[in-house]
Amino acid sequence: MIAYRWALTAMGYPVPISQARRGERYSCPLCHGPMIPRLGDQLQHHFAHEEDTGCTTEAVTRAAVRRWITIQLRDAIASHQVAKARWTCSKCGQQHSADLLEGVAVIHEGYYWDPTHYADVGLVDRAGNVCGVIVVQDELLPTPETLRFFLNQDTFTIVIPASVEPAGSDFATLVAQGQIAGAHGHGVGQTRRGLFGCRSRDSG
Ligand SMILES: [Zn+2]
Ligand SMILES: [Zn+2]
Repeated sequence: MIAYRWALTAMGYPVPISQARRGERYSCPLCHGPMIPRLGDQLQHHFAHEEDTGCTTEAVTRAAVRRWITIQLRDAIASHQVAKARWTCSKCGQQHSADLLEGVAVIHEGYYWDPTHYADVGLVDRAGNVCGVIVVQDELLPTPETLRFFLNQDTFTIVIPASVEPAGSDFATLVAQGQIAGAHGHGVGQTRRGLFGCRSRDSG
């Protein structure tokens, strides 16, 4: 019996086991099979598949966290939230600060920068330029090479640990549970938009 930490509600909203309720219907974010919350006194609370599947706990957690971040970000954009953040730039070593949501128009749940570099969430502007990416980090993924690749782009990268717990519903609270890195405002975006710029993938 594999113990899972996350499942989707009947409405498709991801919830961790700490927020599960007895008697409600849940499903797996990967295989969409029914899941049951095990809330007894004997074992640590967890979700279980009704019928065993090949879903690993890591893959289920990642899929649920990715879904949860995507929903939060889409809400944040719809409600015009501001997400001021400050971090140390990987290119110039200075402190940068920016509203991470400025200019962001579309949130991609699962984003391939290129065929070999995958981010869990991509933040893209109206013209299709990448403003930033979010990667969910567990023991296996992303690989150090993938992280290095994203940190070398002229966009911000937010690394969120897979152990994240939902707290509140604003983007700033989410970011506070992770780590922002990367360069931002160097290259193309700098001339186009000032400090905060979205890097065009086409203009190199
Ligand atoms: Zn499953
Ligand atoms: Zn810099």
